[in-house]
Parts: sequence; C-alpha cells; structure tokens
Amino acid sequence: MNRSIPSDMADPVSPLIPLAPGSRIGILGGGQLGAMLAGAASEMGFEPHIYAPESGSPAFQRAGNYSCKAYEDHEALSDFAKAVDIVTYEFENVPIEPLRRIEHLVPVRPGLMALETAQDRLNEKRFLQGVGVPLARFEAVNSTEELAEAVEKIGFPCVLKTRRFGYDGKGQIILRNEGDQHTAFADLGNQPCVLEAFVAFFAETSQIAARSLAGDVSSYEMALNTHQDHILKTTVLPSGLPQPVLAQASAAAAAILHQLDYVGVMGIEFFISGTPDQPALLVNEIAPRVHNSGHWTQDGALIDQFEQHIRAIAGWPLGDGSHHSNVTMTNLIGDDVDNWLLFARDPACRVHLYGKGETRAGRKMGHINTVSAKS
Ligand code: AMP
Repeated sequence: MNRSIPSDMADPVSPLIPLAPGSRIGILGGGQLGAMLAGAASEMGFEPHIYAPESGSPAFQRAGNYSCKAYEDHEALSDFAKAVDIVTYEFENVPIEPLRRIEHLVPVRPGLMALETAQDRLNEKRFLQGVGVPLARFEAVNSTEELAEAVEKIGFPCVLKTRRFGYDGKGQIILRNEGDQHTAFADLGNQPCVLEAFVAFFAETSQIAARSLAGDVSSYEMALNTHQDHILKTTVLPSGLPQPVLAQASAAAAAILHQLDYVGVMGIEFFISGTPDQPALLVNEIAPRVHNSGHWTQDGALIDQFEQHIRAIAGWPLGDGSHHSNVTMTNLIGDDVDNWLLFARDPACRVHLYGKGETRAGRKMGHINTVSAKS
C-alpha cells in the first residue's frame, strides 16, 4: 500500500518524496541498529525490509521482510533494490562496490560519499581537515620506514591505526617508545595505516546529529561516554560540559553533514582535552549511521535517533530532538544481560534487549536507559 501524498506536500521534482506510509524501507545490516531502525520504520507506517548475510540476524525478527544473502550476491541485491523504495544501512563497513551497482535502481541514503569517507581513516581525517574541524595531528604510514618518519614529526606517545576495519580499539597500537615502534607496523599486518598523536583527553563524548533531504540540520545535546575494554559502556546526558563546548560540537557536526551532503543520522565522536575549566574538542571519528551512544534518545528525547533517521531518508521534515529527561544509557555486554530482572525491578529503568541467541563476552546483548527528571 502506497498512500498518495497531498499535492501541496509533494516535491515538484521528485513526486515520490516525501515517502508515504506504506513505502518500503530497505535496511542493509541485521544487527540491533537495523532492528531498531526497522522498529521505528514500522511505527511510522513503513514496511521495513532487512538485507543481511548472517542467518539468525536480530533484525530479521523485527522486520516483515528480510533477505538473508551475501552483499556480493548481485542478483539478490538487485532484487532487494527493486523491491524497496529507499535503501539505508546500519553499519559503515558495507561493501561499496555492490552498492554502486544498485544506486541507479533505488536511492541510497546516507550516500556512498559518507561511507567511502568513514571506511578509511586517512580519507576521513583529510576530509575533516578540509571541513576545518579540530583533530589530532596525523600522518599516513605505508611502511616501517614511513612510520619512523611519521614518529619523527609527531613524537611519542602516538597511536598507529589501520586505515580500514578498525573498531572498538581493534586495529590500533599505542606507541610509547622506539621499542614499540619497531614492531608496530608488522603487528598490524603490514597494511596501510595512519599515525595519530596521542590525545591526553579527560573525557570522550559523541554528538548525534541529523540532516534532512532539504538540508536542515538538527543536533541532539552532546553526551558523555565511558568505555570498558574499548567498548562503549555508558552514555550520560547531561554531560556537564559548558555550553560553548556543546555549541562548538553541534556547529562542527553541521559543517560535516553539509559538506557530505548527508541525509540521515550521524554519530561524531570527540575527545575532550585540556582541563574541565578549559576544555578543547578534537574530532576522533565519524560514524555515518545511527550510533550506540545515541540510544539515550529513545527514552530522553522527543524524537529519537531511529525515527529521526527514518524521517530524514524518507524526505520527511526532521523531528524535535530536544531532551525532556536526564538519561544514563548502559550497554549490557556479555552476561550483564543475565541481570535483566534486576533492571526491570527499577521503575525508572527502560530495558532494551536485542534477542540475540548466544551470549558471548564482549557482545552487545542489550542496553538500559535509566531516566530521571531533567536538571
Ligand atoms: P577508535 O577506534 O579510533 O575510536 O579508538 C578507540 C579508543 O581508543 C578511543 O575511544 C580512545 O579511548 C582510544 N584512542 C583512539 N585514538 C586515540 C588517540 N589518538 N589518543 C588517545 N586515545 C585514543
């Protein structure tokens, strides 16, 4: 069912925009982010369709339609593209080439430019430098010799990171002295890397922001993150950071989104260096998708990040992301999830479980949002 759009609301150039309820939203990736995007899309009257290669993907349970196929299966991906009205993705390592082949069949939002930028740390840093947002000093490194030259420029301590496929602290090594330096490039598999100055930060934060098809930007208030074993553990709102820092983060987010001609929600991670009295923001990385550190919005903001993303890609106006409550989001990692009843006994605690069959150490099994009155 594809309801018609009142003529005064339809885009004169593209009459299918905004997408009407009943339209089909294709989502690449079957993890919890895909599941929550599918949930938001269903609540808005859309028909979500998940495409993911892993059988038993959590998002399959939440969507009426799913295709359990490889991204490289050209025929299956084309069939999927023809069966939906728009395609989005829930993770940034979606292979680019298959997407290029379906781009002429269906709009892909956020676009491929954002994916290409975020998939390669060097591209990402050069892009951020071009936008003019502050970031740690960096150098490209393609060999042990180039690493020595880069260390010469940046100094110890510094962090060597693979350009591709790094996440949750994987694919990176802190170099404190020449001993670390000698083996680091080989330890990371002799692959293209980036060397970054080590940032003596006192806090890590993330800014979740959205940009609509019409180019409007809406930012959530920036929240404070803590990590455990390099995995996000909590996100706290309010962050306690001064207003000018919050404003600087949302201005940086807007500049990044506009420069990428981005449509959808993005997570931008920052280090806060300096001192609590004189904080200085540095962008760490961008994630062109809904973000774990934005889960607090489900129970603390008028319109959460999942609805906001679906609104944006469907060509709808953005919703109001103002927060109405203080929230602490806590990830349930590994067997934390066994305490579900304990969390459920707290009336101020909203329990979100992902329905993953097998509990493994380091696996995100769910999250809780503990809500209190806005301060
Ligand atoms: P990333 O995969 O780049 O987000 O890095 C994972 C974590 O490693 C970050 O959340 C930081 O805690 C730490 N880290 C990464 N880069 C740096 C850096 N340049 N200086 C200090 N810590 C870093």
